[in-house]
Amino acid sequence: MRPLIAGNWKMNLLHADAVALASGLSERRSAEGDPGCDILVCPPYISIPPVASAVSGEAVSLGAQDCHAGDFGAHTGDVNCAMLKDAGCDYVIVGHSERRADHGESDEFVCAKAAAVIAAGMTAIVCIGEKLDEREAEKTLERVAAQIAGSVPEGATADNLVIAYEPVWAIGTGLTPTVDQIAEVHAEIRARLASCAGNADGVRILYGGSMNPGNAAEILAVDNVNGGLVGGASLKLDDFWSVCSAAS
Ligand code: PEP
Repeated sequence: MRPLIAGNWKMNLLHADAVALASGLSERRSAEGDPGCDILVCPPYISIPPVASAVSGEAVSLGAQDCHAGDFGAHTGDVNCAMLKDAGCDYVIVGHSERRADHGESDEFVCAKAAAVIAAGMTAIVCIGEKLDEREAEKTLERVAAQIAGSVPEGATADNLVIAYEPVWAIGTGLTPTVDQIAEVHAEIRARLASCAGNADGVRILYGGSMNPGNAAEILAVDNVNGGLVGGASLKLDDFWSVCSAAS
């Protein structure tokens, strides 16, 4: 399966920096050719239009970091899926642990967002992952199974769903699970998807959490790891390109 490397820019970069990073990535992709993976960038909402202009054709895809599940209407400060699709997005991240923590998003809420993304003709990247205390209590598999059951909407298939396994304790910390731990969780996710997603064997399962040029090749070689969701390392062109190149 062709891997997907997705950059989550979070709440970073002013207009000019976002455009420079996106243009640089697009130029690197043109100059060096196909690194053997699909490449996606997910800027903050406000940078989506300029980044859409800066990424060329289908070589670098565009996504959003969140969405509102509803239609047009009275939801001050929110952005819906029709707007994101209209702006050029093909993917939307939903249920990132920072949104689950900062905004109290439940599995049910995340599921509604994922359903809206799919209904709008885009691909939902549904984030799941255990907290440190859950890992230490050996509840990791139970936790991710519950998040899949609660966050994956009806109608999800390999064509419109990506899962990102992101241990919360590994995000932005420099810590990563061992490759055996990653393999164990990704195998569990693959098994659980069989009962809730169409063509479950084709659903891409990304690893996320302190992925960088130094560890990407080893992590991306693990069974059932079909790409990465990259935060910090996606903000530096050379680092992000190195991670993309490691996917092949
Ligand atoms: C993320 O937030 O999705 C992420 C993986 O961040 P980092 O790579 O910085 O750990």
